Order: sequence, then C-alpha cells, then structure tokens
Amino acid sequence: ATPSATNPPLLIGELLDSGVRMAGDNQIVYRDLSRHDYRRFRERVHQLAHVLSAQGVEAGDVVAVLDWDSHRYLEAFFAIPMLGAVLHTVNVRLSPEQIHYTMEHAEDDFVLVHEDFVSLLEPLASRLPRIRGYLLCQDAPAQRESSLNLVGEYEALLAEQPTRYDFPTFDENAVATLFYTTGTTGNPKGVFFTHRQLVLHTLGEASAFQTPGFELLNRDKVYMPITPMFHVHAWGVPYTATLMGATQVYPGRYEPEMLVKLLVGEKVDFSHCVPTLLNMVVSAEAIASGKVDLSGWKVLVGGSALTQPLAQRARELGIDTRSAYGMSETCPLLTADILPRDINEADFETQLPWRCKAGMAVPLVHLQVVDESGNALPHDGESVGEVRVRAPWLTQGYYKEEARSEELWRDGWLHTGDVAVLDERGFLQIHDRIKDVIKTGGEWISSLELENLIGQCPGISEVAVIGVPDEKWGERPAALAVPSDLNNPPQAEEVQAFLERFVEEGRINRWAIPSFVRFVDEIPKTSVGKLDKKRIRQEV
Ligand code: ADP
Repeated sequence: ATPSATNPPLLIGELLDSGVRMAGDNQIVYRDLSRHDYRRFRERVHQLAHVLSAQGVEAGDVVAVLDWDSHRYLEAFFAIPMLGAVLHTVNVRLSPEQIHYTMEHAEDDFVLVHEDFVSLLEPLASRLPRIRGYLLCQDAPAQRESSLNLVGEYEALLAEQPTRYDFPTFDENAVATLFYTTGTTGNPKGVFFTHRQLVLHTLGEASAFQTPGFELLNRDKVYMPITPMFHVHAWGVPYTATLMGATQVYPGRYEPEMLVKLLVGEKVDFSHCVPTLLNMVVSAEAIASGKVDLSGWKVLVGGSALTQPLAQRARELGIDTRSAYGMSETCPLLTADILPRDINEADFETQLPWRCKAGMAVPLVHLQVVDESGNALPHDGESVGEVRVRAPWLTQGYYKEEARSEELWRDGWLHTGDVAVLDERGFLQIHDRIKDVIKTGGEWISSLELENLIGQCPGISEVAVIGVPDEKWGERPAALAVPSDLNNPPQAEEVQAFLERFVEEGRINRWAIPSFVRFVDEIPKTSVGKLDKKRIRQEV
C-alpha cells in the first residue's frame, strides 16, 4: 500500500525526533572543539536544510560529503536525506582518480568539503562540471582562497538560518544514501539504501545492541565511532545512537592522542572498529604503558575477523570486545556476537573463541551457508560453503551496473563471497573470502585461521597469510609478518615450529604450515585499514 496518513512512511527524520524525545539534554561532542545538546543538534539539521535548499538542492539531487568524523557529518546524515536528496559519503582515502570516478559516477550535484580536502578537489573540479557549488567546512573559520566555487562556510551560513525547516514527507522507498565499496579489484562499486531500509536497519541494530551482558547503546551511554562515517555510514551506528539519544562523540581525523583523550575525558562506553584500529589504540603509548585506564570500554569489532590474541590483549586492559559481521552491500549489519546463554554466563576463557566468531543473524536477517549448487548446508559446525543472505536492508544492486547486480543477486539471494560454517546454535564463523581461500593439494585452508594461530606466536605483532602458486600442490600458504621488535625478528623456522603444536592438537593439517614466512616493517592495508591481500600478493 502507498504511504499515507494511516500508513506513514518510514523516514530517517523519525530517528532524529526520537533522540530529542529520549534525551534532549544529551550532548553531541566534536573533538575538544565543540559541544551542544540534542535540541540544538535538531535545530542545526533544520538550518543545514535551509542552507542546502537555498543552494538549489532538491529531492533527487545527490549531495557529496568529504569530511572527517564530525558533528557536521552527523547533521548531513539527516538533513540531506530528509530533503529527499541522496547523501553520497565519499571515501576520502581512495586515490584522487578513484574519488573522481565515484563523484562523476554518482552524478554529484553539490558538495560539503572539509578544508583538508579542498586541495584534493581543486584539480578534479573541471572534470566534475555537474557540481553547482561547494560548502566549506572548517574547524576554525578563516578566509580561504580556492579555485573551487565555494558558496560559503558551514558555520557562518548555518548561523543565518531559521531553526525550523518544514521537511516534506515522501515515499519511504526513496534512496537516502549512496557510497562506493573500496574496490580492491576494478572500479569501486556504488551501493545505495532507501529510507525504509535505513530505518529498519536502525531498529534491527538497536535490538542487537541490547543483548544481555553487552548492552551497547541507550540514553545513558557515550558513543564514539572509530569506523569512518564514509565507510558504510559508520555501520549505521550514528543513526542507532541518535534513535536512542546516546551521547555522541566525534573524533575528527583519527589521531591516537586525540582518540585517547576523548575516550578518557568523555568517558566513552562504546566504539566500533576494524581490528587494525583496535590494535593501534591498545598499542598507543599512553595505554600500553598503563598511564591511562580504559576499563569498561566496549568495542564491537568487524570488517575483518577479531583474533584471539587481540581480544586477549584488550581484555588485559579491561576492554570488552565482541564481533559483528557485514559488508558494504548489506548496510552493513548481518550478524552479531549475541552469545548463547550458557556461554554468556561462562568465564572469559570459555567465551574467547565465541567472541571471535561472527555471531548469529540479527533480527530480520535470513542467512544460509550453501554448497556450489546452492543447497543449504547443515548447521553442524563443519560443512563449509558460501554465505548468502536476505534482509530488508540489502542494496538492491550496484548503482548503474546491471551485470554485476545480477551476479550479486543470483537466485534471489545476496551472495556475500564469504566462506563460512554454521554450528548447531546458528553461530556463524567466517573462514575466508572465496577469493582468499588457499587451495593446497585438494584441501581448503582458511587464511583467517592461520593468521589467528600465527598471531599467537611470540614476537609477532601482525600477520597476513596468502596462497602462492605451487606446481605440485596448486597453492601453498605464505606469510608476511611484522615482528614486535623490528630489530630482532624471530626466525621463520621458529614460527613453523610454533605451528607444529596446532598440528598435534588437530587444529590444522601439516600442509597448512606456511612454506615461507617473510618479515616486513609494515603490511599493506586498504583505505579502511584491512589487510590488502591484492597488494600483499604482489609483494610476496
Ligand atoms: P571491502 O570489501 O572493501 O573490504 P567491506 O567493508 O564491505 O568492504 O568488507 C566486507 C567483508 O569484510 C566481508 O565480506 C567479510 O569478508 C569481511 N568481514 C566483515 N566482518 C567480518 C568478521 N566479523 N569476520 C570476518 N570477516 C569479516
């Protein structure tokens, strides 16, 4: 049925109103630079809408944002879709050519740009003729010369506007957000989400974040993302935090010192990030030396598997970690570590392997592990296959890419490209990406499992495992590792000998022991801090 007064559409603006009702006094904090309450937050969203519509932005237009994580970005998360326009969150860590590609492909009409990215856009602007103007975002307003068509400064223009905007209502199936996957192969692919999808994702996430023993968000919690807002809308959590009226802290550009200052000073309860970032925080000088206390901080880890050594290290610092799983194409949340009751009541050692699995499907997600013919495999903790999903918040395709969209959605399921097993309790464990699985002598080896085991070897701080071609075996595992002490790396033979114990325990086969281990100072990462297996293959 079409939305009407008796069948109201699910629109993003509802989430904002809820937050103001829940906790109008709670704060939105930006670095050590600014703070205001939820009532003011809503007024600023309305003022931004006035600024944008004065610039001619209307329903259906695409508005791009290039900013670090900020209160302004949060306002853009609301004001742009609430006007019926599409928010394009630009991945600022892509190469300039890829950024140009995404902005041209998305058909951006108007841009919000932080001053740090002005010089990046200047040489691209002549090749983006569709863009009508650029709104400049600055932390400290100052005159700025630029060849871009700057229409004004964010704060200065906001200050001139009325604090109430009469937002339209429209079809909940209107597209609200658009962004591009990091594209480790080929051009980045655009994924998009409607108002209805984002509202349902927010509600699904809110319920998953209330699990016993791991309550992440409500109006008494303080939230700070450490997953960039351009990356899958920071997993949609700014919407969920707003729905619940949680205090929100935006750290700007991620700098270890500022992150630690905010974590401690604002008493942050909950963050989410990829494992690499958690590793960076727990290795930060102030924390590693025990000068700063982060106990009680809850961190949801996703984007790559949380390893046991990292979860253990966090635990020693009093940090509580759990996993979640999803991808750009899925908005992203698919599963979360909602521990079975007996595990939830058990001690940390018992919980550890569970905390490092992807978890169970959150409400409204249908998830299967299937064989190559598409038959669902049993939940036996052993049968390995591809994960495919259905849920009311998956991208309906890749933007303007018909063939790739059909491939993604073949047989009416979204194919994740991840290889995994499901156990008797419906708990999912990701083994690998299909393209990263190592096939040796007819056996499949999980590169993630191997990374997990090698990571436990003394003297190793980070490791990546890939398959290298081998005449006899097809492929053989090879490891690239960063030693904890750069001047004193362990010997490759020590690592291989260390892995023997897992062979004896029956966890891996002897042929899973990497043929060679190379020590390097740094492992290549993607624009969002994941191991970049494509570049690693080139380096090995
Ligand atoms: P990209 O493909 O650019 O890295 P995504 O952020 O969409 O972009 O990555 C999604 C992928 O990350 C998933 O398909 C999966 O392979 C991996 N992933 C996400 N969460 C987990 C997790 N908890 N455990 C293991 N792998 C994960």
